[in-house]
Amino acid sequence: MQSDTVAPRTKRIKDLEVMVADVVVETPDTSTLVLFTGNDHLDYEAGHFLTIDPHQFEALDRFTAFLEHLKGKSEPPRAYSMCSAPHERYLAVTVKEERFVPNVTKYPPLLSPLLVKRTVRGMRLVVTGFTGPYTLPRDVASRTDHIVHVCAGSGSVPNLSILKFALVNHPTLRHTFVYSNKTWDDVIFREALAQLATQHPDRLTVVHTLTRETDETIFGPSVRKGRISEPLLRELIPHPGDCFVYLCGPGISKWDREAAKEAGTAAQPKFIEMALTHLRDIGVPDSRIKRESYG
Ligand SMILES: Cc1cc2nc3c(=O)[nH]c(=O)nc-3n(C[C@H](O)[C@H](O)[C@H](O)COP(=O)(O)OP(=O)(O)OC[C@H]3O[C@@H](n4cnc5c(N)ncnc54)[C@H](O)[C@@H]3O)c2cc1C
Repeated sequence: MQSDTVAPRTKRIKDLEVMVADVVVETPDTSTLVLFTGNDHLDYEAGHFLTIDPHQFEALDRFTAFLEHLKGKSEPPRAYSMCSAPHERYLAVTVKEERFVPNVTKYPPLLSPLLVKRTVRGMRLVVTGFTGPYTLPRDVASRTDHIVHVCAGSGSVPNLSILKFALVNHPTLRHTFVYSNKTWDDVIFREALAQLATQHPDRLTVVHTLTRETDETIFGPSVRKGRISEPLLRELIPHPGDCFVYLCGPGISKWDREAAKEAGTAAQPKFIEMALTHLRDIGVPDSRIKRESYG
């Protein structure tokens, strides 16, 4: 699948000055920024991301300089997937605020708190885009009739874009959207997913899994307890050799690998690594699994 989705693209990556047209609070720590781009032609594919350079925000100047001093290097732009689909009028990204956890995370997060908590309508910013290999191959409909979305947390962002795009443009494809979160209140796009499932009852099944709810049954029959497990994937993927899987969420980061190496241990598997193991165990070939890790 890799070779199909990263076919050479001639599109030029460019800077766009955009204005925040709306800020939609999705969950207590996650907001969607709806971006007005003027007359710029938006040449992106479902699943692409853009980047935002933290240096453009005066409010972050001192913090950025302090972190660069501590880390000994320049802070790079951060990547954000579009939750919007190319056929939609506005460009939109959805950002989950990272937290500083003493003795777990090494530094406080730089950009996501500002984007989630301090971005208001009318604010201008520069975004750079669009790119990324996490897209559908053009001939997807001739290679499968079943797309399985396996997501956790903000990993649902590019998958929502892919889902909306494919529901409109690939009528023969049906989708299973399996989405893991801690609690019901953490579920990003809860209403949007429910609405799409109502509009496309024969083509979309949404299954939520919640790891920290004591009684998940109160949220309805599509909500399961615990993590995305091998038995659940086996149940939802009747023909593992024929589907395409789009897997997105937290994975082992380079920081995790470095910390584990220093401690002389192996990095602990995260959502991506655990889901990959289950998918392989139930017989989904690697060539049919596309993944994007937000480590
Ligand atoms: C392709 C792609 C798409 C993405 N799409 C989305 C999206 O749609 N929505 C979304 O919310 N997020 C997305 N992300 C994640 C996003 O890019 C940011 O990583 C996230 O918002 C955190 O950025 P931050 O500046 O707040 O935190 P950062 O300042 O980057 O910190 C994040 C973590 O990294 C650690 N860290 C940073 N620098 C170092 C260092 N030098 N040494 C050790 N540890 C370090 C920090 O301690 C902290 O735990 C995506 C990532 C990728 C790669």
